[in-house]
Amino acid sequence: MTSYVYSFDAPGNPDRDLLGSKGAALARMVQLGLPVPPGFTVTTAACRQVLEHGARPPGLNGDLGHHLALLEERTGRRLGDREQPLLLAVRTGEASSVPGAMDGPMDTILDVGLNDETVEALARLAGDERFAWDCYRRLVEMFGATVLGVPAERFTELTRAVLDDRRVAEVAGLTADGLRDLVERGHGLCLEVAGRTLPQDPREQLDLAIDAGLASWHSERARLHRRRCDIPDHLGTAVNVQAMVFGNHGDSSGSGVAFTRDPATGEAGAYGDYLPGAQGKEAVTGVQAAVPLARLREIDRASYRRLREVMGTLERHYRDLCEVEFTVEDGRLWILRTRVGERSPAAAFRIAADLVDEGMITEDEALVRVSGEQLTQLMFPRLDTGPVAPAAAGLAASPGAAVGRVVLDSRTALALAARGEEVVLVRPETRADDLPGLDAACAVVTARGGRTSHAAVVARGRGLPAVCGVEGLEIDPDTRQVSLAGERLFAEGEVISVDGVTGGVYRGRHRTVSSDVSRWLDGHSVESPVVTAVARLLAHADRSRRIDVRANAETARDIDRAVRYGAEGVGLVRTEHLFLGDRRTYLERFLIGGEGERADALRELTALQRESFAVLLAAAAGRPLTIRLLDAPLHELLPDLTELAVRTATATAHGCPDERLRARLAAVRRLHEANPMTGLRGVRLAIVRPELVVAQATAVFEAAADLRERGRAVDLELMVPLVSSVGELVAVARSVGQAADDVAARRGRVPYRLGAMVETPRAAVTAGHLAEHADFLSFGTNDLTQLTWGLSRDDAERMFLPRYLDDGVLTSSPFATIDEEGVGYLLGLAVEGARRRRPQLPIAVCGEHAGDPASIGFLAGLGPAYLSCAPSRVPVARLEVGRAAVLAEGCPADRFDELDAPVLARVG
Ligand code: PEP
Ligand code: MG
Repeated sequence: MTSYVYSFDAPGNPDRDLLGSKGAALARMVQLGLPVPPGFTVTTAACRQVLEHGARPPGLNGDLGHHLALLEERTGRRLGDREQPLLLAVRTGEASSVPGAMDGPMDTILDVGLNDETVEALARLAGDERFAWDCYRRLVEMFGATVLGVPAERFTELTRAVLDDRRVAEVAGLTADGLRDLVERGHGLCLEVAGRTLPQDPREQLDLAIDAGLASWHSERARLHRRRCDIPDHLGTAVNVQAMVFGNHGDSSGSGVAFTRDPATGEAGAYGDYLPGAQGKEAVTGVQAAVPLARLREIDRASYRRLREVMGTLERHYRDLCEVEFTVEDGRLWILRTRVGERSPAAAFRIAADLVDEGMITEDEALVRVSGEQLTQLMFPRLDTGPVAPAAAGLAASPGAAVGRVVLDSRTALALAARGEEVVLVRPETRADDLPGLDAACAVVTARGGRTSHAAVVARGRGLPAVCGVEGLEIDPDTRQVSLAGERLFAEGEVISVDGVTGGVYRGRHRTVSSDVSRWLDGHSVESPVVTAVARLLAHADRSRRIDVRANAETARDIDRAVRYGAEGVGLVRTEHLFLGDRRTYLERFLIGGEGERADALRELTALQRESFAVLLAAAAGRPLTIRLLDAPLHELLPDLTELAVRTATATAHGCPDERLRARLAAVRRLHEANPMTGLRGVRLAIVRPELVVAQATAVFEAAADLRERGRAVDLELMVPLVSSVGELVAVARSVGQAADDVAARRGRVPYRLGAMVETPRAAVTAGHLAEHADFLSFGTNDLTQLTWGLSRDDAERMFLPRYLDDGVLTSSPFATIDEEGVGYLLGLAVEGARRRRPQLPIAVCGEHAGDPASIGFLAGLGPAYLSCAPSRVPVARLEVGRAAVLAEGCPADRFDELDAPVLARVG
């Protein structure tokens, strides 16, 4: 029959899901022969039963009684015994070890088993009355706060009062009598606040502590941790009950925390803190000053040597950085717990590479142990602000740090940038009109919008730091002042510093510290162990992956950077980005001009694009380049309707009606749409105005012919956006073919492939048909998400998505991380449909998700030919695609035995 309780020395492979990571590690350490105080684990299965039925399951009491008796036998002590009392520590521990949650869902309770009688026995046994009462007062406090819910500050106040009464500065200065006073008054406090206090029956103490531990799975703190780390709610926590050892017993005792490598830098060698005369985690809580671990060698050479041996054993067993909590009791070392230690992103790379060199793990395993998220962190510059507090704070929407002058609109941004100034664009929110300003800026700050707002998305794409949704931020376009909650913050032209990692906005200039990894990626030679480790693991990712990584780029500078970062081509040129700023007038004239004006606009537009495409093709240098036909909602291409109406009306009111303005207004009104995102966009505009397709395709083929004539290689793809039906694709293919034939007749045929974007649900479910008419398919997961969910991304960002995330209705934005269940289902369906008709058809992903570390594993599973992402994300995508390949080949994600890797990669 299965038991709800397991001894630490139970045989067999410890099951982390059942015992929690702490219990499993204790069991493993016993098997490794390490000095672990004996004890037992109440399983997560018991927790689940208690939570489901509101009571202990039948059998748990019996199991507890049995294991308690075994523990009493082993230690030669009995719970509540007046001569030889057994004292216990009760700790919770879940299956995953969560950063910042060493204790699990409930704080640890030490010294369970002490009462008014056993405290005397402990005093006799230890020959130290003060020590015994110190333990008792700790128990009253820990039990009161954790089990009875008395606020911890009330105990702090009480302690302060007792210290003042006795004119003593610290608890360490209290005599046994003072501590006894503290215990009595602690009981009184519990009775006053909770209506009851620590029971005198030690078994009742233990039962209440265990029950509180099991129930703590549903505490607010546990829930928050789970949500932050994406841990399912149904797992439950285990509770470990362990014989006490005392680090607070005199000069030859103490406790500490040790790491087998430096968790900040990854450097090899023991690292940690030790606090003589301390109990539990006092060494790391900072209340008293701990000494560096190396000092233990001088304090207690034998314990230090033994600890180093233990650390070596643990590292060899777990083959990773281990964090160890230990206690020295009267010169004897005890190990209380261990886990795979948390580490900084830099340490993660360095440790993984070092472990390969040390022959402990393979390169595949090393690759699995780092993540794209960690690499992302290593690529950002940081702001060094010292102790200065931010003047304003918002969402950390795009990481990185920058310093520049405040500019409040695109025009000022361009003007100042032209003078060589760094500028920070500060806007209520951004729209397509702000793109020139965003391009000129080194950072962006907005009052509204979340992590997937226009500003955030554009900023991430361009690698600009962004702080979005600064609540209360007001921008006065007349006085050129920015205020926060009514208070003046800064004015246009003043220098501010922006930290996209923390969401802080600072007055004045702070130092930015650029990252070694970025400098190395940019081609500088950088001597650093972290850079060496990153280079090595990226190279292994490249060797392992079968999926190419391309970049989404519209400038030669971005393409150069993408290539330096390892891109194998350009998977998406958004041609509407070639018409930013003043260039928008070409499209405007084409869309709403009179007949002659349109023809001129089209001619000029063709010439302009031919030049742009030649530059891009040259930058791609023979690598595949995918040019997407124009795709922008009309309202982003046309003048603002309201503004135009006001100007027209004003002109008329002033007695000088402007016929041109009136005609423009009428044309804009004709094209005005109620829902532009689902209006005359993408392929639909291409069908309604086929001459635009011909013009764009002609420009592409001419540019390619120009390059070819100069002896340069070109590998050309054209792509049709927002396709929903074969008819649409065929119609556009005809226009493109017409342009190709025309250019071929004059300059020889330019080979090209024509693809369809799959970014509407209909395109996804009929991808098989599209496949028969396309040379490739490319998933536009941004639009596919928008259309699958039936929501407008910009509105969702502004109006309700933040609330969804805050309330836990969603755990992540589907625009940031792929919605596997919904959008992912459609992607799978589309791949299956397309492959059934054309097994070899290249399929790609070019939505923003292709650069998201949390989405790439899933996308790689679809077996695409390539992922195309923002240039800054290329190294991250290479790493993640490599990891996905290694994982798919069976390298386990978790080779740490029963110990869990910290879930850092999942923490957003
Ligand atoms: C997409 O929709 O995923 C896509 C790549 O196109 P865009 O973001 O330009 O709409
Ligand atoms: Mg799209």
